Amino acid sequence: MAVATAVYPPLDQRPIKNTIVLFDVDETLTPARRHATPEMLQLLSELRHKVAIGYVGGSDFSKQQEQLGSSDVNVTSLFDFCFAENGLTAYRLGEPLKGNSFIEWIGEEKYKELVKFILHYIADIDLPFKRGTFVEFRNGMINVSPVGRNATNAERAAFEAYDKQHNIRTTFVSALREKFPDFGLTYSIGGMISFDVFPTGWDKTYCLRHVEAEKAREGGVEYTTVHFFGDKAYEGGNDWEIYSDDRTIGHKVDGPEDTIKQLKELFF
Ligand SMILES: [Mg+2]
Repeated sequence: MAVATAVYPPLDQRPIKNTIVLFDVDETLTPARRHATPEMLQLLSELRHKVAIGYVGGSDFSKQQEQLGSSDVNVTSLFDFCFAENGLTAYRLGEPLKGNSFIEWIGEEKYKELVKFILHYIADIDLPFKRGTFVEFRNGMINVSPVGRNATNAERAAFEAYDKQHNIRTTFVSALREKFPDFGLTYSIGGMISFDVFPTGWDKTYCLRHVEAEKAREGGVEYTTVHFFGDKAYEGGNDWEIYSDDRTIGHKVDGPEDTIKQLKELFF
């Protein structure tokens, strides 16, 4: 609770004023899908007396509340900026910022065209078996599974093996690229049974637009130095785009202990 009730200087009165430090969550601030240590939370609180701090996580807000907050501490009280779903859901000093969603961005007409094509394509693929839930609609993306998300673990493994031989997903993605070249979509094959479809650029760099918008606020700060700490800072990793972006100074970490070590070297 000491952390949550601490009083921080306003953003434009932090000692290192034009600097913001952003953090990935899993394996950077916390062990994967687990809670942050008291030591980490204490260090973040001390850092917040010097600079602005924020996190940028790929999963939704409830996950970060669980990992960084607790039943009596709202995660939005621990950071100046909270960027869930890469910033599609965002908070500044505890207040929500304007969000965004896949459907808002693509529009109902284009979305219908896309889903119509996907469902026809799935209907026509010959697989050894199919289950249900072929398109899962999420806030920032859609997830497409040729075999269906209702597949059991054994069925998932069987599909993955079949896919390795027959390139079901890569062929599907090529067909989508060819059909919708001007939709501005990125396709990412991950896991065993599906691939994600999301707007190009909606990786972790998405949150930088919120940071850049700060200078336009009354008494706002222009953040000329943006540090980013993340563990998946390699090509294909989900921290890569923001880590390698020209607007940030990237720091690659090897777990939360390493984040603490590097922060102490840089700021204390
Ligand atoms: Mg990570």
